[in-house]
Amino acid sequence: MTFDPETTTFLIAGPVRIHPRVLRAMSMPSLNHRGDYFHGIVQEIRELLPVLFGAKGRQVILSGSGTAGLEATYSALLPKDGRTLVLKNGNFGDRTHEIARRYSTNVTTLEAPWGRALPLDDAKAELAKGDVRAVCVVHNETSVGLANDIASLAPSVKASGALFLVDGISAVAGIPVKIDAWGLDAVVAGSQKGLAAPAGLAIVHLSERAVAALHPGTFYLDLAAHLKSLEKNDTPWTPAVPLFLALREALVLLKEEGLENRLERTHRLAEATRAAVDALGLELFPDPRYASDTVTAIQNPAGMGDLELRKVLERQYNVLVQGGQGALTGKIFRIGHMGIADWPDLLITFAALERVLGKAGRVRTPGASLRAIVDRMP
Ligand code: PLP
Repeated sequence: MTFDPETTTFLIAGPVRIHPRVLRAMSMPSLNHRGDYFHGIVQEIRELLPVLFGAKGRQVILSGSGTAGLEATYSALLPKDGRTLVLKNGNFGDRTHEIARRYSTNVTTLEAPWGRALPLDDAKAELAKGDVRAVCVVHNETSVGLANDIASLAPSVKASGALFLVDGISAVAGIPVKIDAWGLDAVVAGSQKGLAAPAGLAIVHLSERAVAALHPGTFYLDLAAHLKSLEKNDTPWTPAVPLFLALREALVLLKEEGLENRLERTHRLAEATRAAVDALGLELFPDPRYASDTVTAIQNPAGMGDLELRKVLERQYNVLVQGGQGALTGKIFRIGHMGIADWPDLLITFAALERVLGKAGRVRTPGASLRAIVDRMP
């Protein structure tokens, strides 16, 4: 078997596999983005968006990848005066830190080693000082397969009065994001993760408090301008029309499945993945207590790098999983199991993985990883 992008088993950490209905939705002739037909599509998207976030509020759709949503949010909401608190423990936390430093002159950053829990007690101590105006955190650190415990931090952020700004790119529609209960002011989602739409749109949920606090940031990604246009089912500039069509269909699919059901399926797939990893004698990379349900990060077996593992999976078995980023390149691999990923994807991936490891003499109990998955199927 050789790699074929049209038939590959595709479990990278996003973009994720896309349902044929969503793919077909993009095959339309050009539409007038200022015309009634497209305005109708935007209206439908707006009506469907609370399904994605599990909360009502003001939601903005931006043409641009997840990072566009982060830049839009931080540029418009980080305080001109007062302190910004950034928490980081992975590659995307580093990115948050970089963007925050562009738009806030007074940034305090607290970090944990990649894959370890955030220093929440230190964060609470900073918040108690009373001058923090915004807190920025990545909910699900895709780079290390770790879900940060932002629920525990929420009461302290609330008490401090700071805006709570969350990178939810690989969390939304994958793990519970309790926007209202945790008092989140901005949550950034990316189209290519739990929603299972194509890459290229960022969706930002804003609380009323955040809407009131918006100030001019970047021009193209100006959240206030987008909100104003969206009220008329319009966009300030030419939107990525085919992606909006795909977004609508992906939201319809999510509504049909139900957000809670999607979260539950993602959780079960994650548990099965972790059990299969264990059955193969492999180790997770992050602290297992915080292992993410949308992406599992696994340490490469000693002596096996990307060439011996991921590239063989890709070239011989037509299975795609993701590598590590930055310093973790060649040291870990990551399996994404969000969006519309399902049991057959896991079974094929672990069958191939077990074969590759078996040929290298690394499998103690043949079939154990598949057994672990089958035992957890509904
Ligand atoms: N933040 C997180 C948690 C992510 O997982 C990603 C992408 O994987 C990003 C930010 C960046 O998003 P994008 O590559 O869509 O700009």
